[in-house]
Amino acid sequence: MKVLIVEDELKMASLLLRGFRKNGDAADVARTGEDAVWMTGAADYDAIVLDVMLPGMDGFETLAELRERGHWTPVLMLTARDSVEDRIAGLDVGADDYLTKPFSFAELLARLRAIVRRGPVERPTILEVGDLRLEPATKQAWRGTTEIELTAKEFALLETFMRRPGEVLSRDHLLEQAWDMGYDNRSNVIAVYVNYLRDKIDRPFGANSLTTVRGGGYRLRKDEVR
Ligand code: CA
Repeated sequence: MKVLIVEDELKMASLLLRGFRKNGDAADVARTGEDAVWMTGAADYDAIVLDVMLPGMDGFETLAELRERGHWTPVLMLTARDSVEDRIAGLDVGADDYLTKPFSFAELLARLRAIVRRGPVERPTILEVGDLRLEPATKQAWRGTTEIELTAKEFALLETFMRRPGEVLSRDHLLEQAWDMGYDNRSNVIAVYVNYLRDKIDRPFGANSLTTVRGGGYRLRKDEVR
């Protein structure tokens, strides 16, 4: 199998690297979470050994970012202590198994083989606001049980709203989040797309969740009134 080791401590990283190679497995090392995200996008790994303690993005943030990007490679997390909080946080972001330092390489290998045999398990992060649901990994959206077909731009705009429910979002913020740079800022593109969105997520359902805030921008209501 091909394994990505995410660990900033050289001693631990090279210990694991040697172990895998001796065992006939291929392994690469990423020293930071940022590198791990990049490498996972660039190559196919069968499993990732992810240390919780990393400089910059920690192991949890790295895992969340991987899952967010739709990478479902099995992940074995290494925690410094047998902490319940760590385990719960890891579960929330989609780790497959845990190992507490110190551990034996034989145990790590056994655990890793077990999660690789199970294969990638998708546990998508779903955004929910009222009865609106959105799954960034698969680009699907629903109102209640009804799936809503959205264009890429409509989806990006709705995702921006659903990540900040109840907040007033300015036109500039929405442009920045949902559109590429260089878009004509003076255009009324946001007003047009908010209207498209209302035609899909609100009007057919008799809902009024996407509201215009005078002079300020737009808001996706958390406590949606029908
Ligand atoms: Ca570390």
